[in-house]
Amino acid sequence: MSKRVLITGASGGIGAGIATYLAKLGYEVVLCGRNEDKLKSVAKEVEKITQKLPVMLKFDVANEAQAKEVLTKDVSENGVYYAVILNAGITRDNTFVGIESDDWKDVIDTNLNSFYYVLKPVLMDMIRAKKPARIVVISSVSGVMGNRGQSNYSASKAGLIGAAKSLAIELASRNITVNCIAPGLIKTEMIDESLPLDEIKKAIPARRFGEVSDVAPLVEFLLSDGASYITKQVIGVNGGMC
Ligand code: NAP
Repeated sequence: MSKRVLITGASGGIGAGIATYLAKLGYEVVLCGRNEDKLKSVAKEVEKITQKLPVMLKFDVANEAQAKEVLTKDVSENGVYYAVILNAGITRDNTFVGIESDDWKDVIDTNLNSFYYVLKPVLMDMIRAKKPARIVVISSVSGVMGNRGQSNYSASKAGLIGAAKSLAIELASRNITVNCIAPGLIKTEMIDESLPLDEIKKAIPARRFGEVSDVAPLVEFLLSDGASYITKQVIGVNGGMC
């Protein structure tokens, strides 16, 4: 039986890239997102690879009750996850003095509180399965080194690192690894085209933005048997930014 991999934010740039990459490797990907049309379009790409429409789960990761209902149902109907990729995320950038209360709370709810909302309903079944398993958290270079105009986002992404490290300790003896990937600037819709991108590029030692294809192979590695002794790590994919 193929291994089930839950991917949140699978309708976005990085999530969709990870989904199709893992589908090509034979993983059974489970796509999560809020927008049905976007999810269906990624599902069709996966179907072209696997000849089978993947499971699509429509829910808001910032809504605890919704996440619990949808995820519990999927696990009971279709089986336990081998891996969970916590990838859904948003930005609401502004200088700290300009950040409105809702923009602070939405970012923390979506990016950080979702760690609890998504993992809580599914983790016990992963533990009870008594098999190796994987959790991969998509943090950010912004969570590692901070970034002007992103105090809400940096806080959420740094918080994820703390949560992941603590969970890694709790799960290590159960052969469940928990690691963070901290991408730098990856070309997706998340990159604000209004930013001075040429200037920003000069601050990247590799002198280019990253591609989704720079991130997906790292997920592949972290899910592989060869990565079973790697846990509690934060791995940058950032062209040398930090
Ligand atoms: P993206 O293209 O904007 O995709 C974001 C994904 O998250 C979409 O699938 C979106 O789903 C989903 N999402 C957002 N809020 C959600 C919510 N409340 N409930 C459920 N799903 C939600 O962004 P991306 O570049 O692929 O980013 C993916 C992850 O990488 C994010 O966590 C981001 O912080 C991180 N990251 C990105 C970069 C970069 O440069 N791109 C750098 C560092 C880290 P909908 O279709 O429903 O909106």
